[in-house]
Amino acid sequence: MKTYLEPQTVLPVYDECDVLVVGGGSAGHSAAIAAARAGCKNVIIMERYGYMGGDVTGGYVVMVPKLSWYDKSFVRGLQEEWFTRLAPIPNAIMGPSLDKIGKDDDPALLHAWSRIHGCVSESSPQRLVRAVYYEPNQLKIEMDKMLLEHSDSIRVMCHCWGTKPIMEGNVCKGVIFESKEGRKVVLAKQVIDCTGDGDIVRQSGAPFSTLADGKTRCSNTALVWRIGGASWNRYNEWRQAHPEANLAFREGFAKVCGFRAVPMPTPSDDICWINNWHGDMDCSLVKDCTNTELNTRATMRDALAYLKEACPYAFGDAYLYDIAPQLGTRGSCRIGGDYQMTTDDFAFAKKHDDVIAWHSTICLINDCAPIEIPYRAILPRTVENILAPGRHISADNVAIDWCNLIPQCVGTGQAAGVAAAVAVAKGTTARDVDIRAVQDILAGEQDVPLPRNAHTDISYTQVCEEHEYGMYAELAKKEREKAGSLKSYRQW
Ligand SMILES: Cc1cc2nc3c(=O)[nH]c(=O)nc-3n(C[C@H](O)[C@H](O)[C@H](O)COP(=O)(O)OP(=O)(O)OC[C@H]3O[C@@H](n4cnc5c(N)ncnc54)[C@H](O)[C@@H]3O)c2cc1C
Repeated sequence: MKTYLEPQTVLPVYDECDVLVVGGGSAGHSAAIAAARAGCKNVIIMERYGYMGGDVTGGYVVMVPKLSWYDKSFVRGLQEEWFTRLAPIPNAIMGPSLDKIGKDDDPALLHAWSRIHGCVSESSPQRLVRAVYYEPNQLKIEMDKMLLEHSDSIRVMCHCWGTKPIMEGNVCKGVIFESKEGRKVVLAKQVIDCTGDGDIVRQSGAPFSTLADGKTRCSNTALVWRIGGASWNRYNEWRQAHPEANLAFREGFAKVCGFRAVPMPTPSDDICWINNWHGDMDCSLVKDCTNTELNTRATMRDALAYLKEACPYAFGDAYLYDIAPQLGTRGSCRIGGDYQMTTDDFAFAKKHDDVIAWHSTICLINDCAPIEIPYRAILPRTVENILAPGRHISADNVAIDWCNLIPQCVGTGQAAGVAAAVAVAKGTTARDVDIRAVQDILAGEQDVPLPRNAHTDISYTQVCEEHEYGMYAELAKKEREKAGSLKSYRQW
């Protein structure tokens, strides 16, 4: 490869802060808000685009799955706050309400929600699940409002791309960023890398792993688009009446697209989102990002024509409503943390003293029962004062597919924000942070249920302890072997 030796330059310091969050996705936005609410008055959030949310707004991922188990919602905090705030806005959210979750005795309600993927449990007896579909542009507006409510503590920098950590030895002191103003520096006591691809961590000297091979769910990119003039209710009627034809319809749709693609519901009956999966892609490679953009848009007109013709009852009047402003990024680089999440965390629900969030999973390996995420999984090894919550969490090749989901990103982001605020307040490193204080703020002040914490109703811990984790030991073993056999296919 040809190289170029970049001359040394002197960079202006643009700003200084206590907590710098790089990346304003579900993890980063949560981190900034949580740090401010935990008392930090000097927070900066830096985002490469002009809005917050990442995948959940710009990527048009419009569904947060599986927040509850039986009748309890295990992921609340900022995650539930999104929905409380969006609820009064017409057509902004859709899903079984909190007071109905766990219900298994209302066949009409169960039948109604069974038409919406993820709103009814798969195991028997069927129960209503807290799973929420939302309007991404409404969430975008709400995320801004949340930041503006904390304008005394949080400064927002849009259109700034964090490019490199400033390291003194193994201690992070800030980040270099690029913008239309050129290359500048933000100095910080604590840096939270929420770029989703470990952009900051992987240049800090900390270990990281690349994407696993192309078989994993995380190795699928997407460019989501939406159609208007459709009717999800009519599509449901049609597919229930014609299950065989629906199979052929779905296969035909994927064939026209050239990759797996599926129409899915949104909070408005007449708008559907077209989720898609471009396999064996790495969203941190220029080539793969470009191909996903161009290849998806190239198929949209034919795909729409197919929908109209193959199922005119539901899609006859459909039209192209909009295209997500940004690429759908499921995963690339993962950090090597003090702890790595593995299949065993899911199969046996390991207990962690430094637990910072419950992840209420969509993983059949344990009947979707909640598992504990430890602080160490967002703490990169060998470097100081960097945290890395979100979809690049420290996890093995298989476990990452089960824990890149939005609830985990919001939960770990919120915890990282609180931890950074506590570390600044007490003058410790992120590694030596008073984890009990972090847990007490999360559970006691920020509505995050945590196991074995005095602020959380004991019934949450009990229902997990009563669950027969480990009954899937054989499956776990197989998955563990699979994780070992998958090769990371690229090194930086
Ligand atoms: C098509 C698709 C469907 C999905 N479906 C679901 C689903 O149904 N349910 C579910 O729970 N999950 C789903 N996921 C996964 C989930 O949406 C993501 O894993 C999650 O939203 C990631 O959040 P994050 O904050 O970690 O990362 P991101 O959302 O990627 O946020 C990273 C943010 O950082 C910014 N950024 C990146 N690099 C830099 C940089 N160097 N400097 C400054 N800013 C930077 C980005 O612009 C972005 O705003 C889906 C993902 C995709 C793509």
